[in-house]
Amino acid sequence: MLDVSKTDERYKVLFEPVKIGPVIAPNRFYAVPHATGHSPLMRNGSHAMRATKAEGGWGTVCMQLAEIDPTSDICDLPIETFWDEGDVREHRVLTDRLREIGALSAIEIAHTGIRGRGMGTGMPVWGPSNLPCLKPQVPVQSKAMDKADIKALRQSFRAAVRRAKQAGYDIVYIYAAHDASILWHFLSPAYNHRSDEYGGSFENRLRLMREVLEETVEEAAGEMAVAVRLAVHEVGGRGKITHDGEGRDVVEALADLPDLWDVNIATWPHDSGTARFDNEGWQEEFTSFVKRVTSKPVVGVGRFTSPDTMVSQIKRGVLDLIGGARPSIADPYLPNKIREGRVEDIRECIGCNICVSSDAFSIPLNCTQNPTISQEWKRGWHPETVPHAKVKKNGLVVGSGPAGLECALVLARAGHHVTVAEKAGELGGRSLSESRLFGLGSWARVSDYRLYQLRQMSNVDLFANSDLNAESVAEMGADHTFIATGSHWLNNGLGSTHFEAIKGFEENALSVDEIIKGAKPEGPIVIYDDEHYYMGNVIAAHFAQLRHDVTLVTPQPYIAGWMGYTLEQPRVNKQMLELGVKVVPNAVASHHDGSALHLSDANTGALLAPVAGTLVPVGLRAPNLELWQALDGLENKTLIGDAVAPGIIQSAVFSGHKAARTFLNRGVEPAMKRERGVLY
Ligand code: ADP
Ligand code: SF4
Repeated sequence: MLDVSKTDERYKVLFEPVKIGPVIAPNRFYAVPHATGHSPLMRNGSHAMRATKAEGGWGTVCMQLAEIDPTSDICDLPIETFWDEGDVREHRVLTDRLREIGALSAIEIAHTGIRGRGMGTGMPVWGPSNLPCLKPQVPVQSKAMDKADIKALRQSFRAAVRRAKQAGYDIVYIYAAHDASILWHFLSPAYNHRSDEYGGSFENRLRLMREVLEETVEEAAGEMAVAVRLAVHEVGGRGKITHDGEGRDVVEALADLPDLWDVNIATWPHDSGTARFDNEGWQEEFTSFVKRVTSKPVVGVGRFTSPDTMVSQIKRGVLDLIGGARPSIADPYLPNKIREGRVEDIRECIGCNICVSSDAFSIPLNCTQNPTISQEWKRGWHPETVPHAKVKKNGLVVGSGPAGLECALVLARAGHHVTVAEKAGELGGRSLSESRLFGLGSWARVSDYRLYQLRQMSNVDLFANSDLNAESVAEMGADHTFIATGSHWLNNGLGSTHFEAIKGFEENALSVDEIIKGAKPEGPIVIYDDEHYYMGNVIAAHFAQLRHDVTLVTPQPYIAGWMGYTLEQPRVNKQMLELGVKVVPNAVASHHDGSALHLSDANTGALLAPVAGTLVPVGLRAPNLELWQALDGLENKTLIGDAVAPGIIQSAVFSGHKAARTFLNRGVEPAMKRERGVLY
């Protein structure tokens, strides 16, 4: 039994065991399947990441999507293969480890149907009908499966269920979510155009899912629990499955057949909604009916980081188990912190989806809040502890942005004395200043978490209003100085596609920094976005909701290119439309004449109509190196964060963390292990 002697009475319900068919989850914390960027060739990292979550108190820990055989092929993405005995052996290592720690293990076996592309295996993509694969820019069509294919698919599912049992999993999934499952593709009338017994009526379209589920239950034979992961509602996408339509009908039809319902919404951008667009618990509206339809336990997600919200979900009968993907990435120790009465120590996910972008880039997860994710095996980093310093030293950190605060926290946890000096009146750097922009409130969690921790420690001094120069740094006589002075936005037109300043920009533009500080220009605003992440469209939204006439110009064919990777781009486009922002793509700035921005077409060079208004260029930032350069003669110093090379907040946090770990390791950068494939 878990020790709940220190748990707040209100939260004890979260630590009750939950029976899931033949197995018992030790508590209600359930780390749902999520893409990790760890391919099957990176299983050391993948296992260590999951073991860390189990150690942190997640009672059930799931493996990511695992394809059952080579006919399911989105192998250009780093997801699991679960094809044969070789896979069983490696998965067994994970399940043994999770069991030792005391957590249940689950595997989401799947066939990705028309989400697949067949490019890795050269096999035809399987679907209910002859359709384009669900990536419009990829010229691949699916084969409409014949009866023999369906039979082979069912056998393949059965074999994968057997393997899951051999591998020691406690729970096996039937996956029908995210528009990425063949069972979902058969279910949806948008994709299923068949006229045989697998198409047409709802019962026919459900047939394959029902057959696979029944056969899974049979194969599991009461030795493993069977879960169904179903998107009960499509917010985006084709809109055919709804929580008050066929989404509900599926749960009613299969109600008590599985041991567990894991329910969410489609498409992935809505399931993994970011804080800019969705508040904690937003899926309740669509998933709350499930518990009324089935007597089996229900797990769901909603970027849950507040124990009060979690308890409310349980008490109001919305969920039985609190599902977490991003909350378990940002804080693998979230459950233990609640159990130990340390709720204030939770490192809350900020809902930025940098983790998701890692997967899309086929690299192991990165996280803005948790720099140790994916580094558990690779660098031996733990999310909560650092090596203790035998000899106490004095560290000075100049700058209190994400890099400075993270560096200070690691040094302080090791036992060193740390002084943080910040020239602004408030500590927090860009995580605090940007959080005042429209939709970015959660960015403040980066500094809130770290400042709260630092303020509890007697070996830390925090000073705001402290603009340090070379003399004051020298006077402080620190053993080591970390310079985290950040960066500033340029307003001369330099950007991702402009490598030279643009005429008239510097004289006429308002910089992003001035806007962040609260500048209130009058009249129309023209944003020239050559950065392609959030700042251009956030500023556009900011001024549009203040009723300015806003034009967002970009030299690229579309706005917010990087936000395709964070799943936000379609929603940004929609927001721009809803707020009345005029978007002008493919427009290259030639100059600003003091009243209007002059543009030409990116493809033809033809002149476009000039756009009048206050110009806000969003392009490159320059590192703040004045202090660093003035410290030329000072020994024992490290430059960190945006001051090295401006980037996203995640990379500043990582930089601060790594610099501090390097210091703890006597100045030697911690070794990085590599995953290696096996040579046959
Ligand atoms: P990063 O993302 O690298 O952490 P930020 O821009 O968020 O960078 O934070 C840098 C912080 O450093 C800012 O809050 C800035 O006010 C502060 N800073 C810059 N120069 C000095 C200085 N000379 N003395 C003290 N603080 C400084
Ligand atoms: Fe949350 Fe962002 Fe970390 Fe993902 S990267 S877990 S969204 S804080």
